[in-house]
Amino acid sequence: MQLQFIGSGDAFGSGGRFNTCFHVKGSAVNFLIDIGASSLIGLKAQGVKQNEIQTIFVTHFHADHFGGIPFFMLDAQFFSRRIEPLTIVGPTGLCNWYERVMETSFPGSSATRPKFDLRLLELQAREQALIAGVRVTPFQATHGNPGGPFFAYRLEAEGKCLAYTDTEWTDELLDAGRDADLLIAEAYFFDKKVKLHLDLDSLQRNLDRIRPKRLVITHMSDDMLGRLATLPYETASDGLVLEL
Ligand SMILES: [Zn+2]
Ligand SMILES: [Zn+2]
Repeated sequence: MQLQFIGSGDAFGSGGRFNTCFHVKGSAVNFLIDIGASSLIGLKAQGVKQNEIQTIFVTHFHADHFGGIPFFMLDAQFFSRRIEPLTIVGPTGLCNWYERVMETSFPGSSATRPKFDLRLLELQAREQALIAGVRVTPFQATHGNPGGPFFAYRLEAEGKCLAYTDTEWTDELLDAGRDADLLIAEAYFFDKKVKLHLDLDSLQRNLDRIRPKRLVITHMSDDMLGRLATLPYETASDGLVLEL
């Protein structure tokens, strides 16, 4: 499998990076993790064939992770002419948030029926599901109130396990990322403690309890981007491809 960072940025375009979106492609699986407001631009810039994407796993409903849904959906309808089924997976409230984000972005659009089979699947924390070849386990993240629930994901497919977290530190991350082949973790600040976000120092203190085989840092603020050359871990960048 291959994972490409379509967007590795934060909500505010730090470093000129696009919002969070990762594209994973294997011999049979093809899915996105998050789809921020700028993600359709990123997908097209990287030449990703949108109609081949089977599933979109959404961690939470902030615009830099979910705000690309209206652009993706209307493009699928009118330009990509999608006929392939699509599943969007997310926390409880997904159906309601889907309608809200569509209506806010393009009034009237939530009532338009897509020409393909669209499934919105709401999961509870720790409720496992098997979707288009991907075993997904969501974990409860700590990333705000209201607007939740928020998820960290553990995704298993084609013999590999990857995890993505965007949350302040919570012991839920131990199970989400344990022994994963790839852990992609937000590290918003270097060691500054802020509510709702993770800093590299807090992650580092717990790494020996998570033991990921590979760690890649993403969703960095200017504070982190200014230290890129001296960070002791791999860091994401837009367009970067990882072999899994
Ligand atoms: Zn974010
Ligand atoms: Zn967020």
